[in-house]
Amino acid sequence: MKKTSLYILVLFILISSCKTQIAVNELANTITSDELKEMLYVYASDEYEGRETGKPGQKKAVEFIKSKYEEIGIPPAIENNYFQDVPLQILKTPKVEFTVNNEGFEYFDHYISYSSAPSQILQGSQVIFAGYGIDDENYNDYENLDVKGKIVVVKGGEPKDKAGNFIVTGTKEISKWSNGRQAISSKRDAAKIQGAKALILIDSQMFGRYSAYFKRQVERGGSNRLSLIEQNNDDIHFFLAGKELGKQLVPEYDSKNKAETVNSKISIIYERIAVPIASENVVAYIKGNEKPDEYVVISAHLDHIGVNNDGEVYNGADDDGSGTVAIIEIAEAFKEATNKGQTPKRSVVFLHVTGEEKGLLGSRYYTDTNPIFPLENTVANLNIDMIGRIDPKRESTNRNYVYLIGSDKLSTELHNLSEAINKKYTKIELDYTYNDENDPNRYYYRSDHYNFAKNNIPVIFYFNGTHDDYHAIGDTPDKIEYDLLENRTKLVFLTAWEIANRKERLKVDKAK
Ligand SMILES: [Zn+2]
Repeated sequence: MKKTSLYILVLFILISSCKTQIAVNELANTITSDELKEMLYVYASDEYEGRETGKPGQKKAVEFIKSKYEEIGIPPAIENNYFQDVPLQILKTPKVEFTVNNEGFEYFDHYISYSSAPSQILQGSQVIFAGYGIDDENYNDYENLDVKGKIVVVKGGEPKDKAGNFIVTGTKEISKWSNGRQAISSKRDAAKIQGAKALILIDSQMFGRYSAYFKRQVERGGSNRLSLIEQNNDDIHFFLAGKELGKQLVPEYDSKNKAETVNSKISIIYERIAVPIASENVVAYIKGNEKPDEYVVISAHLDHIGVNNDGEVYNGADDDGSGTVAIIEIAEAFKEATNKGQTPKRSVVFLHVTGEEKGLLGSRYYTDTNPIFPLENTVANLNIDMIGRIDPKRESTNRNYVYLIGSDKLSTELHNLSEAINKKYTKIELDYTYNDENDPNRYYYRSDHYNFAKNNIPVIFYFNGTHDDYHAIGDTPDKIEYDLLENRTKLVFLTAWEIANRKERLKVDKAK
């Protein structure tokens, strides 16, 4: 080889390696507000009927997403099939015969069931009254109490100390144990963890509200409670009851705080009525070229809440049309890299999940029942749920922001990497307001990333906060701030790119 041609070769190698460095930015620049807008105007149009899980609108949504991956040329994660079937069921009002001391009690009038547990006869089991049903550091009704296999009765609310402070919080502020829907799920989960067979929560106020709501739904011809078929069988039987049933079960329950055995004779004959429905996640992926068995999952939910009783469509442009089109643009940028010979080191999975609005069902099915790629090889999950709008409650005047939730919870490296990437490229104000452990909104638990986080997979949840059009008919594509949607999408892409291409797998230093 001549010296000059050697120089040319060296020069060529230098140029091409420089090109790789520049390319990341160039790749990010293929994500444009115009393309995001074009897709979102279709995806969040009335034609998609609010994309309610199991309804025709959701089928249109999955077909739209599939067609985009076909156009871009990214293969499905399952051979020859972009769809991962997620078997769900609609839970109708169960048939229940409920007697205490041989006196019959009526569904809707005295109690309702709030569970997807299977048909069962609950009789003759020991019944235990467990105070408020709280299992917390500062106050624990289950201490020295064995409720395994038993029916547990608890009351609503939480205790105060002599100074009038709540014992759990130590302040005048209530805790999750008496905070509406959160109190219901906290008490149910506590009883389930303790191994109880059934929980009866006596709370007249909550019972009144929920029974009226479900009764109205039934009168309108349906129930939109959905659940995963696979997971029902380990659900706990759970009843929300009013005062009358409460008094018959545990006389003077109101003034009792200590646990005791209930002497009342109880019989519950419970028949679950469930109708199966079909639903699906859409999953595409790019195989890594150096570490193909390590996976970075980028997710957003494809469903929304359908149509209201007047036939008005909930378009869900922000929730979560914005996340859906963002992933497609991110996928396209990765594909562009692959076309230029820069396939990412690790595999990248584009996961569009169903049933988020019905209780994170599609992501739960993916993580708990059928992970297409092993969870232990899943390096991180970047989840996008609403990134196209501005939170009107936010005080800062800088509109170029995004809320990050969860980035530091499991991996310090992930948090630092996310900060560094943003500093280098996108320069968005990263707002951690909702990352606080004590955030009463509990957003960390409320979107699909949580199903990954609970498996110790590091996550970042990208979110713009709520607004007046949240879960309202005003969540339309004309109200999206497309320049912000573009910036935020670029940030997710660049972060994913770094995670997929860095030398070492992200360390999980704070596993729970
Ligand atoms: Zn959402």
